[in-house]
Amino acid sequence: MTKSAVNKGALLVLNSGSSSVKFSIFQLEGGAVEPLFAGQLTGIGTDAVLKAKSEAGELLAKESWAEYDKGNVPSILPHLLEWIEKNLPADLPLIGAGHRVVHGGEKFDKPVLVEGSVLEELASFSPLAPLHQPQNVAAIKALADSRPELPQVACFDTAFHQTMPEISTTYAIPKRFTEAGVRRYGFHGLSYEYIAHNLSETKPDLAKGRVVVAHLGNGASLTGLKNGVSIDTSMGFSALEGVPMGTRPGSIDPGILIYLMRENGMDADDLEKVLYHESGLLGVSGISNDMRDLEDNTDPAAVLAVDLFCSRVAKQIASLAVSIGGIDALVFTAGIGEHGPILRKKVLDMLGWMGFAIDDAKNDANAHEISAEGSIPTFIIPTDEEVMIARHTVRLLTA
Ligand code: ADP
Repeated sequence: MTKSAVNKGALLVLNSGSSSVKFSIFQLEGGAVEPLFAGQLTGIGTDAVLKAKSEAGELLAKESWAEYDKGNVPSILPHLLEWIEKNLPADLPLIGAGHRVVHGGEKFDKPVLVEGSVLEELASFSPLAPLHQPQNVAAIKALADSRPELPQVACFDTAFHQTMPEISTTYAIPKRFTEAGVRRYGFHGLSYEYIAHNLSETKPDLAKGRVVVAHLGNGASLTGLKNGVSIDTSMGFSALEGVPMGTRPGSIDPGILIYLMRENGMDADDLEKVLYHESGLLGVSGISNDMRDLEDNTDPAAVLAVDLFCSRVAKQIASLAVSIGGIDALVFTAGIGEHGPILRKKVLDMLGWMGFAIDDAKNDANAHEISAEGSIPTFIIPTDEEVMIARHTVRLLTA
């Protein structure tokens, strides 16, 4: 894998999981990146299916890939690469790949070209994110094996939070654990970086101030920004801390874990299953992990799940305002943040005492600015982690 001085071609952005791969293709022309098409391979290991759409929404593929499915992502990736290259315009060769990698450890505070010992270093962070890091590393390795000349860039969910001060990164635990890397890292960094860039271009004065960004998707976290850099965030050592999510509980009393180990005989794998897959909106409602199934459901368990989520998000916004010394603006992003007027209203109604007020018509219309006049400016900004990865990849390929 080598750097190449290129200014025209196609870039592949990959987000690889254990049974699925999301991909986006961007065109690079004159330093700028534009989306061309995107898709996903799902059901790898059971019944792989490829779906892809052009940027204009035209269906490019919806087909079974069972014939290529050998039960894991690395073995199917070369076929995906072939399919992508077949669908690229002839004058746009693939010139690089950018990967979403969950963890950059304490070392990586920005994206990195994968060369030398980088891949081994990334693999060494697997214990910090055992459900995702090994899959991210395996995808990079599979691409390197099938296209050794294709430059690859790793972009981390943690890197943007490396600006957090010690008071935000430290847990009140014995120093020997802190020194061994048991600290708060934060996640969703590519999303926060995108929002920070977007604000600096569209609202430069606000971007210099104190802004809380609420990334509320299936995974959810919030970050306090000051002058565009991360000062504090709700996720910590793992993506479990903070607010409740689709199937994760957010912060809970760690005493619960000791209790479950002693009284229910649970081990690390049992706890991992409960904490990553059975908790959050799904655990409380017993109905669904998807906010769309819960937000206007009158079942008392669904109402409790939604109210708990909103209350914890509101508390987190107030808490981050303490970390950044006040609040000049609030941004909602990701699935629930961008498309959930009921949730946004419930959250802001709880924060009226801080100076928030919602404009109901604008909120219902998912408008860009949803705050009532004279209140703290509140925006919806759709996030785009893929374009952030594409931009980083170009920068590193052409540096
Ligand atoms: P991920 O974290 O997987 O990237 P997304 O950012 O795509 O997730 O968010 C997915 C979540 O967004 C869904 O689980 C759903 O709860 C929520 N969502 C999407 N559309 C709506 C909507 N119209 N109203 C409320 N919630 C929504």
